Amino acid sequence: MSRCRFCSNEAVYNGMCFEHFKKFLLKKVVSVIYIAGLMNKRLLVGVSGGKDSAVTAQLLMFLREKFNLDIELLHVKLGIKGYSDESLDSCSSLSKKLGLKLNVVDVKEEYGKGVDDLAVEFSSKGVPVCSVCGTIKRYLMNKFAFENDFDFVITGHNLDDEASFLLQAVKEQQIELILRNGVFSPSKRDFKLVGKAKPLYFIREEDVEAWASLNKLPIVNKKCPYSFGNKQFVNKKVLKDVNEEFRGVDFRNSLVKTFFELRRLIPDDKKKVIALRRCSVCGFATTKSVCRFCRIMGLG
Ligand code: SF4
Ligand code: ZN
Ligand code: ZN
Repeated sequence: MSRCRFCSNEAVYNGMCFEHFKKFLLKKVVSVIYIAGLMNKRLLVGVSGGKDSAVTAQLLMFLREKFNLDIELLHVKLGIKGYSDESLDSCSSLSKKLGLKLNVVDVKEEYGKGVDDLAVEFSSKGVPVCSVCGTIKRYLMNKFAFENDFDFVITGHNLDDEASFLLQAVKEQQIELILRNGVFSPSKRDFKLVGKAKPLYFIREEDVEAWASLNKLPIVNKKCPYSFGNKQFVNKKVLKDVNEEFRGVDFRNSLVKTFFELRRLIPDDKKKVIALRRCSVCGFATTKSVCRFCRIMGLG
């Protein structure tokens, strides 16, 4: 039996006992709470049924009293056969385990089309299903949060997700996207945009996985049938290979921290911000006259 490097208790993960592993994770979440200003705020945690959002919700729960956080969960039911029902079941179990209210938006019920229907339509046009699905999730989480007076939408993006996003953005030289993304974004109520924050921003995927499994968090044990087309899988593999070559240096961490510091060096007025307007159909923020969600759903 190995011992924790901080106390004499049994180590359960990476040289840490349960309590020190928990402290290690909470310290990183607390840094995001301060950076994003989440204290005394109403937080809507988007839960998918996966490990990242489940761990996000649980870690925030541990900090609820200390930072006076008002937390609820939201699941967007996507309409993916053989996956959506199971995902909702996991979210319901999580909501019971944590004692947090679960809100559900059913895309197919509300808009008449789910991701399966849209996949047929958009795949034939060469549009990746995950890009359509991502727009739907982001739009509906923001809409629900705005209409129900939440201050922030909370997502489960971890350090590997951010590193993967940065790799892709650097590859495509998407400077504006890099500047706009980050650990949090403030709300713009005039454009019906609620703030967003990522409490797992500085936490590696393997740490999230280990914590979810140690705590037996209810996680959907199926993969989305469209996940094979997700660019993130290729990027994460590249990052894993680089990490193996750069022994002793966690490249993912270096990438995320470097861009985090770079963004902080650029004053807000120097960041090129895309001009926002209100969608002529739904009134939510967009850069075109009709937002991508309304175009995807064929509204208006
Ligand atoms: Fe949506 Fe793609 Fe994730 Fe499936 S893998 S839930 S289609 S973003
Ligand atoms: Zn310990
Ligand atoms: Zn719209």
